[in-house]
Amino acid sequence: MNSFGPSSRVKLSSGQRPELAIIGGSGLCSFSELNPIEKVNVVTPYGPTSDQILIGEYAGKVVAFLPRHGEKHNWPPHHVPYKANLWALKEIGVRHIVATCIAGSLQEKLVSGSLVVLDQFVNLTWGRDDHFGTEHSFLHLPMANPYCTEMRMLLIELARRIPLAVIPTGTVAVIQGPRFSTQAESEWLAKNGWDLVNMTQYPECYFARELGLCYGAVAAITDYDVGVGKALTMDFTDISNQEEILAIFRNNITKIKRLLLGFTELASGRMQCQCAETSVKAYYED
Ligand SMILES: [Zn+2]
Repeated sequence: MNSFGPSSRVKLSSGQRPELAIIGGSGLCSFSELNPIEKVNVVTPYGPTSDQILIGEYAGKVVAFLPRHGEKHNWPPHHVPYKANLWALKEIGVRHIVATCIAGSLQEKLVSGSLVVLDQFVNLTWGRDDHFGTEHSFLHLPMANPYCTEMRMLLIELARRIPLAVIPTGTVAVIQGPRFSTQAESEWLAKNGWDLVNMTQYPECYFARELGLCYGAVAAITDYDVGVGKALTMDFTDISNQEEILAIFRNNITKIKRLLLGFTELASGRMQCQCAETSVKAYYED
């Protein structure tokens, strides 16, 4: 029995199918550390993907890489073709996805430069196409734990081995964007106890679940959101402030790349989690 999603796999000229994909967020629009094998365009029922999918090799593993916003960062968060991206990755054979994203901190304890392995999201976006069903055919899919537990544990274990400091849990509030929060909005997000704010984790994370794919995500904190007191926050009128934040941003990307490259070596096709089965069960029994 197959989970929901594309059943016919596209032909890859190299014949080398990736089981693991990296979705790169802002700051990670290309991944030159992967030895390129080929770039593919996948035609999906939902239009084109954000960009061509790079299939590359690292440490003997075949890995797919897709920049969420396109290589030229030309897809704003509310217009990213999330549906096509996830569909296309499954169609080329991917079963596991590790995604990166940039986030603002909502809590003083989460300092700039931290990496967070996400475990929950709160969706505050609106108007985004967010399920694969139709008007009268749809799934009620469990989402109590939206991220693949096994992927999360692998990322945390890998960080410990490198060693690289990561915060093992974090709830991200996903806002519509592309604008940032107002002071009042940010204070409201923080008062709810949520840890981070971002614009892209929804519906990307959910689409992976609906397609039965394992999905883990690492958020890199660049600065504090505007509601977090006197802490470091982007100030577009202050050059030194911007330079400080850009330095944190670049350092975060370097750390994330170390984690991702390690992950390509660690991850295997033999996950013990229930991600694929959850999708199948919901689809066939609902
Ligand atoms: Zn899983």
